[in-house]
Amino acid sequence: MSAQPAQGQAGSGTEPPADPNVDLIIVGAGFAGLYMLHRARGLGLRARVFEAGDGVGGTWYWNRYPGARCDVESLEYSYQFSDDLQQQWHWTERFAPQAEILKYANHVADRFDLRRDIAFETRVTQAHFDEASARWQVRTDRGDALSSQFVVMATGCLSSTNLPRFPGLEDFQGERYHTGEWPHQPVDFTGKRVAVIGTGSSAIQSIPIIARQAASLTVFQRTANFSIPAYNAPLDPAHEAAIKAEYPAFRARNSQMMAGFGSSLPRNEAPALAATPEERRRRFDERWNRGGLGFTGAFNDLMISREANDLAAEYVRERIRAIVEDPATAELLAPRQVIGCKRICVDSGYYETFNLPHVKLVDISAGGIEAITATGVKAGGQEHPVDCIVFATGFDAMTGSLLKIDIRGRDGLALREAWSAGPRTYLGLNVAGFPNLFTVSGPGSPSVLTNMIVSIEQHVNWIADCIAWLRAGGRRTIEAEPQAQDAWVGHVNAVAGGTLFPTCNSWYLGANVPGKTRVFMPLLGFPAYVQRCEEVVARGYEGFRTAA
Ligand code: FAD
Ligand code: NAP
Repeated sequence: MSAQPAQGQAGSGTEPPADPNVDLIIVGAGFAGLYMLHRARGLGLRARVFEAGDGVGGTWYWNRYPGARCDVESLEYSYQFSDDLQQQWHWTERFAPQAEILKYANHVADRFDLRRDIAFETRVTQAHFDEASARWQVRTDRGDALSSQFVVMATGCLSSTNLPRFPGLEDFQGERYHTGEWPHQPVDFTGKRVAVIGTGSSAIQSIPIIARQAASLTVFQRTANFSIPAYNAPLDPAHEAAIKAEYPAFRARNSQMMAGFGSSLPRNEAPALAATPEERRRRFDERWNRGGLGFTGAFNDLMISREANDLAAEYVRERIRAIVEDPATAELLAPRQVIGCKRICVDSGYYETFNLPHVKLVDISAGGIEAITATGVKAGGQEHPVDCIVFATGFDAMTGSLLKIDIRGRDGLALREAWSAGPRTYLGLNVAGFPNLFTVSGPGSPSVLTNMIVSIEQHVNWIADCIAWLRAGGRRTIEAEPQAQDAWVGHVNAVAGGTLFPTCNSWYLGANVPGKTRVFMPLLGFPAYVQRCEEVVARGYEGFRTAA
């Protein structure tokens, strides 16, 4: 499942840095790392980026599975820091496909001349804080050893793939793929018997396309997921022109939305429980027919009242039953958990795919995958012979990539130890005891509950401004106060606890990875979070301690 050589656009700059002493090391060259480097250059910092892949783009570099595309509309899922960039870039579809988003990331890298400070195919393995020099000692798998005043972990929330340890995994003699580490050459499933394990967003996007090629497709489902149609289409030129005519105002309106996007159809601020059945139907129809992620904005109580949520969930179940012809398959595909509790999926013909005669759904909710054999997948006591297995089993989200690095702060404290009972941060930006180390869209920030490019830009701007402030004041280090961090962790939990989000086994809670501590990791509510970050700054970096 390892990545093949990149499809053009491979980066240069794999040579070790000339000067091992830098101001800032950035780990990762996805949208977070690229923008962080751009801002660092603007501050005159000597910055160096390390990226495990051989090109930029992060998520969009790794996830090349068929059907991969964004589920936030293209005109919103893009940077806003450069008005020239957002005016000149043209998206071709309502929801951009992976290849176009990757092209965009490469365009940004070239346009802002970023590649010369990025070392590709280089994984950061270690970052240790040296108390005497108050600097980070960073090592890579290529043997680089650098010293840096600041480190920014732009390692991504969904960048560490989760491949469960299915018994017999290594025995399989056919082809196997993980959606999050897809080969760079297209995979041709023509005439093949294919298994897909998992029914999250990656599976739901890829299944309709794999089904078009495969001789047979068997989908192994542990938990059914809610999916809303994308109604993807070429981008309407009139809509594009209208947005571009007032892009900054459009961005400003989106920044006031709970998830940092979707201002063209804001949440209806009325409760479902007070609406008549006709009004409820009208609102749900409106959202379903519009397509995309805004479905749970039909009413304001859907994520806080189980009774209200049941009404929305039942509406989607009815839709599924109306699409899927076989009643038993329809019932299996009809999710039972709270709608929105796992991230809603956005699809193009997912449920319809199960009407095809060569597509089969296998319910593994009771016994899971029993084994992978040399020739297939065993579940429910039955072996399903296949030529290829697609593992659409997701990610060790939010903490996976951070904890793969040996990060040690003051007194040699390992991050893994500091987070043994779940991740703890202040504002999702810094961890007490780890001075000058910042996380972009870290646990405890809105991150994965938002349009992530918006969150990334907000974090990078905050970090860059913080570094500028430290330097202007002759301060060498900044770190979270433990009490401020404790209060913040309490706040994040309290916000989640007032909603239905923690009620199911989602990756937001780490529940998809065996043994991972169950803690709701992201913070709900982008505008309030941004306001809090600004207040912290206005009060002289309240909750942080600094040293000269
Ligand atoms: P990433 O893009 O994950 O980049 C992190 C980079 O860090 C990776 O390239 C990785 O190789 C590198 N890295 C990690 N560890 C190391 C190390 N130790 N050393 C060197 N390099 C390292 N979000 C949305 O808002 N809307 C969407 O529609 C959407 N769709 C998505 C679809 C898929 C299939 C997935 C998986 C995620 C999606 N997301 C979406 C979330 C997406 O991850 C973010 O939108 C965004 O791309 C994250 O950018 P990033 O730079 O923070 O992280
Ligand atoms: P995911 O949502 O975590 O889905 C993984 C699937 O694999 C789930 O169905 C899960 O079942 C199943 N699974 C995991 N371990 C298993 C096991 N041991 N046995 C059987 N089944 C197992 O992962 P994803 O689909 O890659 O998506 C992750 C996130 O990335 C999304 O939520 C979204 O934020 C982002 N994403 C976005 C898009 C988009 O539309 N733009 C596309 C892809 C991904 P359970 O549910 O039972 O755990």
